[in-house]
Amino acid sequence: MGELHYRGEPVAFETGESALDALERADLGPKGVCRAGLCGACLVRVRAGDVPERARQGLAPRMVAQGAAFACCLVGPGPFDLVDLGDAGTCQATIEVLETIGRDVVRVGLRTEMPLDFRPGQYVVLERADGIERSYSIASLPSDAHVELHVRRTPGGALSPWFFDAGALGQSVRLRGPLGTCCYEPGRPDQALVLAGAGTGLAPLLGILRDALAHGHRGPIDLYHGARDEGGLYYRAELGALARAHQNLTVHGCVLAEPAVDRTLRTLGLGDAVLADRSTLEGTRVFLCGDGTLVKSLKRRFFLAGAASRDLLSDPFELSPKPARVAGA
Ligand SMILES: Cc1cc2nc3c(=O)[nH]c(=O)nc-3n(C[C@H](O)[C@H](O)[C@H](O)COP(=O)(O)OP(=O)(O)OC[C@H]3O[C@@H](n4cnc5c(N)ncnc54)[C@H](O)[C@@H]3O)c2cc1C
Repeated sequence: MGELHYRGEPVAFETGESALDALERADLGPKGVCRAGLCGACLVRVRAGDVPERARQGLAPRMVAQGAAFACCLVGPGPFDLVDLGDAGTCQATIEVLETIGRDVVRVGLRTEMPLDFRPGQYVVLERADGIERSYSIASLPSDAHVELHVRRTPGGALSPWFFDAGALGQSVRLRGPLGTCCYEPGRPDQALVLAGAGTGLAPLLGILRDALAHGHRGPIDLYHGARDEGGLYYRAELGALARAHQNLTVHGCVLAEPAVDRTLRTLGLGDAVLADRSTLEGTRVFLCGDGTLVKSLKRRFFLAGAASRDLLSDPFELSPKPARVAGA
C-alpha cells in the first residue's frame, strides 16, 4: 500500500500504480490523456514527495520551480502530497492572427502577456475561457512576433473548430507550458537530419527546422511532409523558399493518393519515402511529429532501420479519448 494525499486528503494508492490512476479511481483532480508524460493534461503540483526525473521531463524550469509534475509518472508507493497546479506555469495570451493556411488548417498567432520562454518544437496547453484545453505545438521561433500554432479542424471537436470562427480573433486564452523535449540540440552540426510528420505535425517540425538552420546546421536535412492527398499539404511555397535559401535542405511532399496538380509530390507513405532514400538510418537524427499512431509506428520502423534511440525524437499528438472537460463541471 502506498501513501498519497490530494488537497490534504488521503487517497487509496497501490504500490506500482500511478498517482493519476489513483486520482481517477477516486474521481479527483485531473484526467489523463496520453498517460505518458507528454500531453500535460494530468499536471499537478507536488508539495512533498520524491519526484522521479521522468515526471518532470520537458517541463520548463519555471514550472519545475513551482513544483509541477506529471501525475501519470508519479508511481507508488510514494509518499506524495499533491494539489492542483493552479496558475503555475501559465500566462495569458491574445489571439491576434487567424489565417487559413491549408484546406483544414488555420495559423493561430498569439501575443503573450510576457515572453514565453520556449524551445522550438515544444508545445503549450491552450485553455479557452470556458475551461476547455488542448495541446498545440509551436511552429515559431522565440524571436518571432507571435507564438504561432497550426490547428487542424477536427469535425465535431470541442476546441479546434473554434479557431475557424472569426469570433475567436481578439479573444484571450490561457497557455500552460512550454512542454516537451522534441527539440534541436546544437552540437553535432554535420549530422544528417530527417524530419517527418503528417498534417499539422509540420508545426513543430517547422520550428525545429528553422532552429537547426539558425544554429548553422551543415549536415543534410530532409523534411518529409505527408498527407492523404495534395490538398492536405500546406506551406508548400514557404518550405520551397526555405529549401532554395539553404542548399542542405530538401523538402519532400508525400501523398497517398495520386496527385492531380503537383507532379513533384511523391506517392508514398512517410516511412516508405524516408527508407527509399537511404539504406540505413544509422547516425541520422530523426524527428517525428503528428498523429500519435503514425509517430509510434514510424519510431519502431526507423529504430529497426538503424536509428539510435537517443537520435529518435518525437512529439506524438495523442487525442483526447474523453468528452471535453469544462471548468467547474
Ligand atoms: C503534444 C500534443 C501536441 C499537439 N499539437 C497539435 C498541433 O500542433 N496541431 C493540431 O491541430 N493538433 C495538435 N494536437 C491535437 C490537439 O491537442 C487536439 O487533440 C485536437 O485539436 C482535437 O481537439 P478538439 O477539441 O477539436 O477535438 P476533441 O473534442 O478532443 O475530439 C473529438 C473526438 O474526435 C477524436 N479526434 C480528435 N482528433 C482526431 C483526429 N485527428 N483524427 C481522428 N479522430 C480525432 C477524439 O478522439 C474525440 O473522440 C496535439 C496534441 C498533443 C498531445
